[in-house]
Amino acid sequence: MKDIIIIGAGPGGYELALKASKSGLTTLLIEKDNVGGTCLNYGCIPTKSYYQNAKILNEVKKAENFGITGDFSFDFNKTYKRKEKVVSDLIKGIEYLLNKENVEFVKGTAKIVDKNTVQVNNAIYKGKNIVIATGSSSVRLNLPGFDLEGVIDSTDLLSLQSVPEKLVIIGGGVIGIEMATIFATFGSEVEVIEMCDTILPLLDLDISKRLQSYLKQSKIKIHTKSKVTSITKIEDSEQLTVHYIEKEKEETTTASKVLLSIGRKANLDNLGLDEVGIAYSKKGIVTDDNFKTNIDNIYAIGDVTGKTMLAHSATYSGYHVLNNILGVKDKINFNIVPSCVFTFPEIASIGLTEEEAKNMNIDYKVSKSMYRASGKAVAMNEVEGFIKVIVSDDKIIGVHIIGYDASNLISQVLPLINENISIINIKDYIFAHPTLAEIFANAIHEL
Ligand code: FAD
Repeated sequence: MKDIIIIGAGPGGYELALKASKSGLTTLLIEKDNVGGTCLNYGCIPTKSYYQNAKILNEVKKAENFGITGDFSFDFNKTYKRKEKVVSDLIKGIEYLLNKENVEFVKGTAKIVDKNTVQVNNAIYKGKNIVIATGSSSVRLNLPGFDLEGVIDSTDLLSLQSVPEKLVIIGGGVIGIEMATIFATFGSEVEVIEMCDTILPLLDLDISKRLQSYLKQSKIKIHTKSKVTSITKIEDSEQLTVHYIEKEKEETTTASKVLLSIGRKANLDNLGLDEVGIAYSKKGIVTDDNFKTNIDNIYAIGDVTGKTMLAHSATYSGYHVLNNILGVKDKINFNIVPSCVFTFPEIASIGLTEEEAKNMNIDYKVSKSMYRASGKAVAMNEVEGFIKVIVSDDKIIGVHIIGYDASNLISQVLPLINENISIINIKDYIFAHPTLAEIFANAIHEL
């Protein structure tokens, strides 16, 4: 009998397997596809590989500002191949680590048979603890025409061998907006149709509004408060017509590719949940704060719980489960999870948005510092954006960044929030000059 059986080798499952084995637990990891999960194969990594191409393309376009001129061209075929290599190199890296750390790996689809038994094909494996880390998949809508060829999800989009001339994106969430940014930079004409009042509706409103204006400048058309009703095919062509309602008026737009990015749903099918009596809702597997299901030795981590659908959240929920099994107390705070959106410029946020603080009747103060006022940002020609700090009772309760390198800048805020450091103390910290981190320091000194 293994100490721990993990189903799914995404950033939740494989990171847990490595750590569990290092901690001395006999560990079995089961995966039906490549190791790395959605994140490495179809999500974070391939999109960020494309994002890097788009970033370089944008920088080359702006090179004249630095006195650099000359012709350049963009080869999507090489971009595609580079992305494939990035992914396959990292898969090999994980396989190497699993082998090095003596994690037993089984390839196949797992089904839980009873509280200590997992079946893969006809083989039976026994474990003291079972962790479900089966992730999530794109939601598909059952509306007329949504099954037509050319209506694709993010995985399909990442496997296209050419840049679509026009791309209509249904859904202005993180995945939709990142894809809009990337493919618009690659040369597609991009149109986003979003049902809510704003794109990225979960972000601080100041940030999503600012991004919307930047996206418009880069010629991405955005329709908010707009609802897609159906998709039809134009006869004898590869073109699709997307029918939607905007301001109570029926509108249409056409494209050869329509990306459906309206959210993701937990992978619950054929896992044996009903047979074993594991509780789940529409959102995902139900767990307590320690990611334990209603069955004492069975846990669920990452996207399959339907909680924060982010790779680092999946990984740390696995670490927390391991600590729980080992009887180690940790202070991992799942209310403080940074999230990033890789647009131009980048977005990163942590903690409460201003709207959330307002709705919770919190007595708060806001301080905003602009990139434009930073010597480093001006020297870099990266002056768009700001850092917004929300403070209550002399403590940071939220930080929202839109601007160059936001995804790295947010990390310096983590210990300050996690350790509940007072603004008065942060004011004594010396930030190096000239750095973008000074934008954050300026916001703090304004308080
Ligand atoms: P997954 O990564 O989905 O892994 C689950 C694994 O379980 C899969 O490999 C699957 O094949 C396997 N599996 C499922 N059922 C079974 C079974 N019965 N038996 C065996 N194996 C099974 N997150 C970020 O934090 N940053 C980003 O920049 C980011 N970008 C993204 C971009 C896109 C386009 C997408 C789609 C997602 C992105 N995400 C990002 C989200 C991130 O990929 C997920 O939050 C993360 O992968 C969840 O990890 P997980 O381990 O819970 O599940």
